[in-house]
Amino acid sequence: MVTKSLQSIRGIHDGLPDDVRRWQRIEDVARATLTRYAFSEVRLPVLEPTELFVRSIGEETDIVSKEMYAFTDQGGDHICLRPEGTAGAVRAYLQGGLTRSGIQRWFYMGPMFRRERPQKGRLRQFQQIGVEMFGAAGPVEDVEMLAMAHAFLEGLGIPDLQLQVNSLGCSVCRPAYRDQLVAYLQERADTLCETCNERIDKNPMRVLDCKVTSCQAKLGDAPEMLDHLCDGCSAHFSDLRQGLDALEIPYIVNPRIVRGLDYYNRTAFEIVTDKLGAQGTVLAGGRYDGLVSELSGPATPAIGFAAGIERLAMLLDDVALERPDLAIVAIGDEVLSYSLKQAADLRQAGLCVVHCGGGGARRQFKMADRGYVRFVAVIGEDEMQAGKVTLKDMASGEQKLVKAGAVVAEVQAAS
Ligand code: ATP
Ligand code: MG
Repeated sequence: MVTKSLQSIRGIHDGLPDDVRRWQRIEDVARATLTRYAFSEVRLPVLEPTELFVRSIGEETDIVSKEMYAFTDQGGDHICLRPEGTAGAVRAYLQGGLTRSGIQRWFYMGPMFRRERPQKGRLRQFQQIGVEMFGAAGPVEDVEMLAMAHAFLEGLGIPDLQLQVNSLGCSVCRPAYRDQLVAYLQERADTLCETCNERIDKNPMRVLDCKVTSCQAKLGDAPEMLDHLCDGCSAHFSDLRQGLDALEIPYIVNPRIVRGLDYYNRTAFEIVTDKLGAQGTVLAGGRYDGLVSELSGPATPAIGFAAGIERLAMLLDDVALERPDLAIVAIGDEVLSYSLKQAADLRQAGLCVVHCGGGGARRQFKMADRGYVRFVAVIGEDEMQAGKVTLKDMASGEQKLVKAGAVVAEVQAAS
């Protein structure tokens, strides 16, 4: 055990081999799926100017007001560990001068940081697979984004996920709706929780997705954005639904999806599971047509989503460890160099090989056994002289002398 003062920060976990194997499976499926939709990977900084998130996510959101790891560095710059990927992606899009380069389809994978209360499925350092598309106003692209998210999760084979969609309106229809909602909430303010009360003026739509049961019970008849969409938003939403139907992607309309951040408009969606308690959203996103101009760029429609790798990993079936094909047991110091060369050659030929380090035969066999290898190649003085190895099939116990050059074929024939 590490001394308490040296342990990792609460809510920040190590990725040990068993974890990373699962994460890599998620990343592999994501990379394969997203690439098929013509998305390109970008690698963006973990450190960003604090101002970027204040300007984009909004000062009154939870993320900016209490969850950011922000500090002043030795040079006096205000810097933070990115809490999410979209703002940085927009910054990179603008800074890279890509606004006239046609539709940009990007994805990224990496750690995000939020000083939240640690609990199951809620970490302070977690990883996201994020996707952003700049320059397309939808709704066709919205459908494709959702189809892509669906294909990705289907590729992972996670059962019982539900796609939920909503429309958040736009600057034409939202203000009037917002006023109506605020009036409705103010009438009930004394029956709502403290957080809801704080949000009534700052971010009233977020009150609708308050997780407190008593609040939910009070809000059953709250006005919904969907009933107040302007013609443009209404057509966009119905085209989105038609597209999903045409692709036979199951979904429900959830008028309570609001997304936490200020910059979303029109299409909003989440993919949820009922297996992770309150932390059931594994993937979430939406359209954010106003953000690029908010960050001083030209008006540019955009849509994106992010999936939480750790939450997905909790839902994944066991990912089998890739067992080594072969272990090399070297008997006697005089064969050590030769056995190392054999190991190198076999790896060159594509096998996964562990060298058991020479020394006592018993210890080496025990090691091979613990590694669950399929074959053991024993190399002693006689084998070396003959250019052969004694190959033992650990499944059958069968053992035979084979030419060094024939080992690969023998192993491959067995698998
Ligand atoms: P939640 O409602 O669960 O707090 P969110 O709306 O804050 O999620 P986003 O900012 O949209 O989440 O992030 C997208 C995804 O990233 C989430 O759906 C979730 O899978 C994952 N995620 C977000 N915050 C955390 C966290 N603290 N720990 C682990 N995963 C997270
Ligand atoms: Mg959150």
